[in-house]
Amino acid sequence: MSEQNKEQIKEKTSFPAMEEEVLEFWNEADIFNKSLSKDAPHGEYVFYDGPPFATGTPHYGHLVGSIMKDVIPRYQTMRGYHVARKWGWDCHGLPIENIVEKELGTKTKKEIEELGVAKFNDLCRARVSTYIDDWKKVINRLGRWADMENSYRTMDLNYMETIWWTFKQIWDKGLIYKDYRSMHICPRCETTLSQSEVSEGYKDIKDLSATAKFELVGEPGTYVLAWTTTPWTLIGNVALAVGAEIDYVKIKTEEGNYILAKARLTDVMKDKQYKIISELKGADLVGKKYKPLFDYYYNDKSLENHDNGWKIYAADFVTTEDGVGIVHIAPAFGEDDMNLGKAEHLPFIQHVGMDGLFKAEVKDFAGLHVKPIDDHMATDVEIIKYLAAHGLLFHKEKYEHSYPHCWRCDTPLINYATSSWFVNVTKLKPQLLEEAKKINWSPDYLKNGRFGNWLEGARDWSISRQRFWASAIPIWECANGHRHVVGSVKELETLTGEKIDDIHKDKVDSLTFACAECGEKMTRISDVIDCWFESGSMPYAELHYPFDNKEKLEKDFPAQFIAEGVDQCRTWFYYLHVISGALRGERAFQNVIANGIVLAEDGKKMSKKLKNYPDPLLVMDKYGSDALRAYLLSSPVMLAENLNFSEKGVEESLRKNIMVLWNVYKFYEMYAEGIGGPVVEPKSINVLDVWIIAKLKLLNKEITEAMEAYNLPKATRPIADFIDELSTWYLRRSRDRFKSDDVKDKQNALITTRYVFTELAKLMAPAMPFMAENLWQKASGNNFTDKNKSVHLETWTEFKELDEEENIVLFQMEVTRNIVELGLARRDEAGIKIRQMLSSITVKAENELSENYVDLLKDELNLTAIKFIKSEDNIEVELDTVITPELKKEGIKRELIRLINNLRKDNNLSISDTAHVSVIGASEEINEVIKERGIEIMKDTLSQPLDVAASISEGQIPKEVKIDDCKFAINLI
Ligand SMILES: [Zn+2]
Ligand SMILES: [Zn+2]
Repeated sequence: MSEQNKEQIKEKTSFPAMEEEVLEFWNEADIFNKSLSKDAPHGEYVFYDGPPFATGTPHYGHLVGSIMKDVIPRYQTMRGYHVARKWGWDCHGLPIENIVEKELGTKTKKEIEELGVAKFNDLCRARVSTYIDDWKKVINRLGRWADMENSYRTMDLNYMETIWWTFKQIWDKGLIYKDYRSMHICPRCETTLSQSEVSEGYKDIKDLSATAKFELVGEPGTYVLAWTTTPWTLIGNVALAVGAEIDYVKIKTEEGNYILAKARLTDVMKDKQYKIISELKGADLVGKKYKPLFDYYYNDKSLENHDNGWKIYAADFVTTEDGVGIVHIAPAFGEDDMNLGKAEHLPFIQHVGMDGLFKAEVKDFAGLHVKPIDDHMATDVEIIKYLAAHGLLFHKEKYEHSYPHCWRCDTPLINYATSSWFVNVTKLKPQLLEEAKKINWSPDYLKNGRFGNWLEGARDWSISRQRFWASAIPIWECANGHRHVVGSVKELETLTGEKIDDIHKDKVDSLTFACAECGEKMTRISDVIDCWFESGSMPYAELHYPFDNKEKLEKDFPAQFIAEGVDQCRTWFYYLHVISGALRGERAFQNVIANGIVLAEDGKKMSKKLKNYPDPLLVMDKYGSDALRAYLLSSPVMLAENLNFSEKGVEESLRKNIMVLWNVYKFYEMYAEGIGGPVVEPKSINVLDVWIIAKLKLLNKEITEAMEAYNLPKATRPIADFIDELSTWYLRRSRDRFKSDDVKDKQNALITTRYVFTELAKLMAPAMPFMAENLWQKASGNNFTDKNKSVHLETWTEFKELDEEENIVLFQMEVTRNIVELGLARRDEAGIKIRQMLSSITVKAENELSENYVDLLKDELNLTAIKFIKSEDNIEVELDTVITPELKKEGIKRELIRLINNLRKDNNLSISDTAHVSVIGASEEINEVIKERGIEIMKDTLSQPLDVAASISEGQIPKEVKIDDCKFAINLI
């Protein structure tokens, strides 16, 4: 920074500019690295950073996360730990693939394959770092200390090698298997998704449901009804399911005979005319054959299990809660359907491809998408039209339901039978639940709530994705079904004889080797790994464990602390836990803070399109990072609750935390000349000094306890309260001491205040690192000169219990302030301004206060005397409201002093400036006071001289003022 720039920044007194200076100091003096290399008597405090996707600039959610991840490590560093803060980047997966796809304009997976996986992956790799500079800027400005230079990236060879190692470890334990089952797939991305990915994308949508007519073979004109919310699956229908014990009826209508559940009759028939012909149990229907709605597959007699198809079966998942109490079965498109298909050996019809398009043999609909993203009902409408035209539609209806969508591309998902690789979470679950009991949550209800529930209900984890830009699944297979899992780069090199420096899909797909069992060629399965497997493996992969850092990980596992948004209960927190459970049989983290969501001020989601929130960088430029940090830290967003972001809130946080404190400091600085040397603990016996030190100790206790409990609002809110008491009670009541001729008392006030500043700075340092640094540098006298000194290199002060004397002072001061409050209320009721001195109050209280407090009371309430009456009841205060001529004069004197001092302030006079003051056109009474008490007024207002004039002289610009009803003017020369 040039000298000129430095000067410019100094000229600005704004807090954001002061923060920029602090940043400059941290940078030049390398304070972050010094905080890492300083003595750490307690050893390592292990923190894992969840890697963000750099697919956009950081938003408030990221800021909240970053603040938590800064506060705790700063605190633990001051406590005497070494806290490494390695940054990570999540590079793989659908987010980045989707961005590249948008740029390419590709619509299908096939187009990417035509382009070439290598080329596509290169584009993804190039896109990953687009926003990294924006991130660095924001994170730095926020004051978060993180090692972004040596960050880990999930796409780096070392990282990916550990992923392979991890996979192989879990494989060797028999916890990974392949299965063909009903899953949710995204037909646009053409990939399977995991339970948590699916759970992220539920939205309410309107759909068309249909009740179709299935005519019984050998009973012309008699139809079994079945209701479906996915009419497009009817082509894949091979069976109908009934409940064996459910009551059904056969009814006669004008259009024919229908069979449906008795319990559904009124709802289904509504006002239609019908007559019950007979009643029967579901079991009576089982085995009956019906005519298929479509014949595309029925006509293919070579279809496996053809004979078992198009019949009625009993199933225990059938209910009469909705529909008609009879379920249409398409084994390729639903879990229950598939299970029944397996159990009853039903034909299997998959008339739709992974791409969501009807296959060619479905002649009337070939090529249609089952759930087009722009009009998701379009194909169902076509199916319903077909049914109606063929006399097979009983009823159609619009209805709303919650339907899953792709979390990345928003395409409606479809339930689709396909094969996938799974981690056997079910088998691990008892141990995962046991280990989860040892995790400490903030807020604590997440432990058994969101996280515990999700873990409890967890199913096997589908880890294979049919995509491109990710870690490749390291399974090689031969034609005879033998499998080999590769666990390291070196192993693959040995097997293939190739030199390998990249193990992305496009590089390893062509690598083959001979099967150890049968000698046939082994090729890699084409799937890649769910990128949550990568972020869940970060504790090992960031260290390239076990290829490097073997001992380090063994020594440091698990993490003491992690933090992310509450949504990660189903994802990062969960996958960390699952992988460490599978790998090591233990939990991956001991303490976790989960934050809530930052919403726009109106309670809506923050949206770039709607521009309903201020840019984070602009907010920091306007109010400073400390103000933003303190605002967020004090809010329930740090305890997993939502926050409606308010710029006003940030402004208020600036005022309460930063400005008030800075004003106290500026006042101190005016009188602190000659105060220097090492900061010492004050030994003053002045009750105000003892009181503020006791308050400081309590603040230390409160913050320390809240930090240890990982409760950030509790650790932050008391700071503003303390600053308020420092300013509105300690400083206000000590103001005269700072100016006092009593050297000892003045010294006591200054030394105490200085000590409070340096200690408060330490307590504030984790939450508000900029103001803390500034205050500490100034008050300690280092003033940014010694580059080895910083509040962030200081040691956290151990909390000491209050001694007896301190407890007494705290109590007495509380009584005093209580009396003040009551006294002011009495004055208010009597309509007597505080500047009007009164003769006395009578206080009824349990104990009489000592002289120190009586003096405070007299000053604060502007009284000449205080009388105490002993009383066991609550404190009561009575005011003597008689204003004697003497009191009146004293009141006028004080008003004059205040008015003149205000004028001095307006004219920017300092304490070394004297001024000639003239009072013009005042009343007899006021002039009298000036005559009688001029010397006192002159002393308190540095007036030299003070005189009374009858009229304004030429060249004077007097200020109009008022005392009671008398208007007059004061001139200051
Ligand atoms: Zn998708
Ligand atoms: Zn083989």
